[in-house]
Amino acid sequence: MSEDSQAKKELAAIKGTKDILPGEVEIWQKAEAAARRTFELYGYRELRAPVFEATELFEKGTGETSDIVLKEMYTFTDKGGRSLTLRPEYTPSVVRAIVEHRLDLLPQPLRFYYMGPMFRYDKPQKGRYRQFHQIDIEVFGEKDPAIDAEIIEMAHSLLSSLNVTETETLVNSVGCKACRPAYHQALRAEARLKSESLCDDCRRKIDTNPLRIFDCKVETCRAVAEDFPRITDYLCAECSDHFARFRAYLDVYGLPYRVDPRLVRGLDYYTKTAFEIVTTKIGSQNAVCGGGRYDDMMKEFGGPDLCGIGFAMGMERLLSIAGIQAPPRKTLYLAYLGEEAKKAGMSLAGIFRKAGIECLVEFKDKGLKAHLGRASKTGAAWVVIVGEDELKKGRYPLKDMSSGIQTEGTPEEIMQSVKDRG
Ligand SMILES: [Zn+2]
Ligand SMILES: [Zn+2]
Repeated sequence: MSEDSQAKKELAAIKGTKDILPGEVEIWQKAEAAARRTFELYGYRELRAPVFEATELFEKGTGETSDIVLKEMYTFTDKGGRSLTLRPEYTPSVVRAIVEHRLDLLPQPLRFYYMGPMFRYDKPQKGRYRQFHQIDIEVFGEKDPAIDAEIIEMAHSLLSSLNVTETETLVNSVGCKACRPAYHQALRAEARLKSESLCDDCRRKIDTNPLRIFDCKVETCRAVAEDFPRITDYLCAECSDHFARFRAYLDVYGLPYRVDPRLVRGLDYYTKTAFEIVTTKIGSQNAVCGGGRYDDMMKEFGGPDLCGIGFAMGMERLLSIAGIQAPPRKTLYLAYLGEEAKKAGMSLAGIFRKAGIECLVEFKDKGLKAHLGRASKTGAAWVVIVGEDELKKGRYPLKDMSSGIQTEGTPEEIMQSVKDRG
């Protein structure tokens, strides 16, 4: 390898990360803007937590993939000798922020949304990154199952604004501390009977976390699990009532759904509602949104006894199936001829920008031909030409680059006609 290509390799983005360049970033901005708009229509407010936290915050107990997350954390010692971790998920930071700022004293429920990068030392594969991005929402302090239905309706509202069609909503109830032990017992008993047909991994899960058997991707395990007892047959009165009312509220929104008894969350603090929105597009049978209720989580994190529910959407996957078009840029290019015209053009650009018109002034070119050439290369929609005569008259030629038609007007008239054709 030559010295030069060695240097280039060293300067490449780290495996599992990627640059989002102009051309692609507009799609991200559009999705993020749609998320903000949607969530705020439902009364959510953004909460931005730091990207890194004390390692023990994540060790204390993180979300649904806890053991995996712990193995995949980006942990480092800073110059002060503290162990810090790049957040592998958002919820622990939010719980910390709620406790630290006593947000639990605010009127409830608390509705928050977050978006940003998360970090996991995962095996990089197509569409999966070590720095990945999520859009999350959480509601704290609302027990009513109407909120469970509302967040699903909100997720659908966002998805449809991003032209994500062909989706299916899967729902389940995972019970609570009162009703789950009996279910676990029944599940273990059945899994033991069928253990010969399960993979090694699943056999280990029988004693540690039998619910996780449902997550196994091995075909034979899936087939066996099909006949396992269903949690919905073991729900206590409270959970069963919650589940029934939750589904009735989904009907209020006219949202079709399917009960999937295999949809489970492995950790103890998950309670009642679990759901996923999956795409049914051929070749992308994947969850675009996953969420659920965790009424015992806050307490187990050492926080106040506040029930919670939320969902997460992975940006990379979302954008891979979203039908978003980058909005066309409408730039006005300001061409000037001579030093006086340059100064006048610079002021004129200021006026246009204040009026909300994207305006580009370049300082490399002198002649009109060079200016027009650059305007065309930059993809400008219009060119305004400022020369000495134009300056005296206070009227400027406006060239529409797509039609080639040239008109003339005062700055006000130009602004108007650009806006009319915007
Ligand atoms: Zn229960
Ligand atoms: Zn298995």
